[in-house]
Amino acid sequence: MKTIPFTKENIENWSQQFPTPFYVYDEVGIRKCVTDLYKAFSWNKGFKEYFAVKATPTPAILRLLNSLGCGTDCASIPELVLSQKSGINGKNIIFTSNETTVDEYKAALECGAIINLDDITHIEFLEKIAPLPDTICCRYNPGKFNITNDIMGHLHDTKFGMTHEQILEAFAILKSKGVKHFGIHSMLASCSLVEEYYPRLAKKLFKFALEIKEKLDINVEFIDLSGGIGIPYKPTEEPVDIFAIGEGVRNVYEEIITPSGLEIALFTEMGRYITGPYGYLVTKALHYKHIYKEYIGVDASCCDLMRPAMYGAYHHITVMGKEDAETVGKFDVVGSLCENNDKFAVERELPQVDIGDYLTIHDAGAHGHSMGYNYNGKLRCAELMLKPDGNVQLIRRAQSIDDYFATLDIDPQFN
Ligand SMILES: *Cc1c(COP(=O)(O)O)cnc(C)c1O
Repeated sequence: MKTIPFTKENIENWSQQFPTPFYVYDEVGIRKCVTDLYKAFSWNKGFKEYFAVKATPTPAILRLLNSLGCGTDCASIPELVLSQKSGINGKNIIFTSNETTVDEYKAALECGAIINLDDITHIEFLEKIAPLPDTICCRYNPGKFNITNDIMGHLHDTKFGMTHEQILEAFAILKSKGVKHFGIHSMLASCSLVEEYYPRLAKKLFKFALEIKEKLDINVEFIDLSGGIGIPYKPTEEPVDIFAIGEGVRNVYEEIITPSGLEIALFTEMGRYITGPYGYLVTKALHYKHIYKEYIGVDASCCDLMRPAMYGAYHHITVMGKEDAETVGKFDVVGSLCENNDKFAVERELPQVDIGDYLTIHDAGAHGHSMGYNYNGKLRCAELMLKPDGNVQLIRRAQSIDDYFATLDIDPQFN
């Protein structure tokens, strides 16, 4: 069952001040999600979630996560600055970049972030910029990794990370150059609802840590399981049980790491799991069109949420005030771009939608607003935080036409 922590009446009130479309994030939901994650991994000393900023790069969200003990995972200078402007600094940031520029490494080193190297050649690249930091993480790509029914098995085809041999070589080189603290990072799935994913990944990395200990006499101090835990976009899917996942990882830790005497802190870099289900895109029905199919035209477009257009992703839609109404037919819910893939839903069973009805698009809290863009001159929409007291707070205003023009070269005679 998909639920919404606000009503049609709430939207009518909010939209007097903040016109649709807008995003609403549920602070209560995010708090509970993070609190449960920390409980699930409380057995591991040093456990920390480094929220993937790209999922929801909004300072109010990052501040909330910081207050709950999270750091951030960044891949660009603006993401580093967003973290710092949200009170997150130093080793509370992991810089997991690829195809990194000199300026990006400089900025990451300056703020004291943990550097996660995507490739062995980046050791030399980094050394030319500044002395190597004390702590380095390396990103591992094992080449293959099958997880039942949910496979990101084509790792030969993914650009990320280093091979097994390269990690060993990189660690040997880094050790010889005076690096003191080591970590391994790996991300082998995206939106996985398979609870075995983290335990299986952890097992692989724990065994690798023992091999590194044996071959190089290096104590791996942290292992970053990264993101990739999925959420149920479809009403027929079940959420993962984070406590079962925590226990699954604990079992492999006690099997492999505990007897070795090593102590390894576990990190995660979840994005989608933390904010995805707790963000909603609210839009208004503007037009109804009947040609060969039935279309409901809304005031949001895939410039506000591109996942359906980009991946054919399913996002559940609730017609506000008609939660319990019978469906009356199949509709395409479409935005206004001059692009025929601008659809939030294709042939979706919905109740009667009247002009002016509000539609809430679910599970838009991660990789939603952040993937937005300005195609067709569409301005980016606002983001609101639904506070525990039931009020909303504007946490990102809508883009204005002046914002849009701020970067353009306009001939003064037309100004
Ligand atoms: C995108 C990304 C994440 C977050 O992925 P989710 O699917 O949102 O959990 C974490 N780490 C890295 C390196 C990423 O690129």
